[in-house]
Amino acid sequence: MNDHAKFGTPTDRHHLGAAGMPLNTLSDYRPIPADAYGTLFLPDRLAKGYHVEEINDGAFYVTSGAYDAMFVATGNGVVAIDAPPLLGVNMLRAIREVTDEPVTHLIYSHYHSDHIGAAGIFGGDGLTVVSHEYTREMIERWPDLGGTRGLPTPTHTFSTSETLDVNGVKFQLDYKGVNHTPGNIFIYTPKQKALAAIDIISPGWSAFKHCDASENIRGWAEAHDWILEYDFKAVVSGHVNRWGTREDAQASRDYTADIIAFAKEALDQAEDLEFIERIGFSNAWVLWENYFNEMTNYVTKKTLEKVTDNGQTWGQRLAGADVMTKYHAYTILEALRLEYGLVTAFEKRIIPQEA
Ligand SMILES: [Zn+2]
Repeated sequence: MNDHAKFGTPTDRHHLGAAGMPLNTLSDYRPIPADAYGTLFLPDRLAKGYHVEEINDGAFYVTSGAYDAMFVATGNGVVAIDAPPLLGVNMLRAIREVTDEPVTHLIYSHYHSDHIGAAGIFGGDGLTVVSHEYTREMIERWPDLGGTRGLPTPTHTFSTSETLDVNGVKFQLDYKGVNHTPGNIFIYTPKQKALAAIDIISPGWSAFKHCDASENIRGWAEAHDWILEYDFKAVVSGHVNRWGTREDAQASRDYTADIIAFAKEALDQAEDLEFIERIGFSNAWVLWENYFNEMTNYVTKKTLEKVTDNGQTWGQRLAGADVMTKYHAYTILEALRLEYGLVTAFEKRIIPQEA
């Protein structure tokens, strides 16, 4: 069965109308800034499918060109942080490329399978596996997060913070509350000044859809400031194809703060909405769809056109901002109602109030 048989012809795909999503092409969007390519087209990454580089003193960054992870050679054993399926066995190859030390420790950043689902490549016997307690709960509840290989079950968990000492190398593990997911921890090596903070920022890029598919948007937004509290040379963020600098983290924080500010501004101005009369009150979902789309478009336009501190607009500065900002705008508008406690003028308008 070919793709057309499965999904319909390209023409059919464009005919979902109001029930469907827009299907666009590359030329509908702004070209990607050169520095956002990162390691994607490096000869070694193209040849091997991965790129590995030392951040500092035994701490290594490894990427498939889409998914990133970290590992630290301590002198007598490797500590791996995450194992994304899109790196898979290439993570082991990257480790073997730079050291003969065995992998003795594994730290999970969070339970999402796209970042830890290949951890079975490390085997399980004798491996010390560390995670937040919520991550262990998820792995025990849904063992298939590790696919056919399965996932090594955490042998040691914690709830707020913990310092690991592996052959004299310190790992500071911090959980400051719900963010991208419950249990998403930051892993910091003070000597190497390397920080793994997964699925918060995407260096050089706008985050992936809906604030990187986060479960708690307010916590995800706050986590940008948590990253900046560390004294780091490199932040390994899980995506996309290079590690991040302080400047990258500041840009992601400011971009997110602008979306939140414009979303609040949109809600303040949401009283005079012509579509309410036009659509009426018979189909609540059409009303809400129009409300969110109008607010989302307002926030998206304001954000993409905002001139930032380096003189560029967000649309010019962050790769893929013109693809993804609308999803963040929608998600943040929704979060303002659910997580920030704002009751919108729109809601007051459509629901009868006491006189
Ligand atoms: Zn995730």
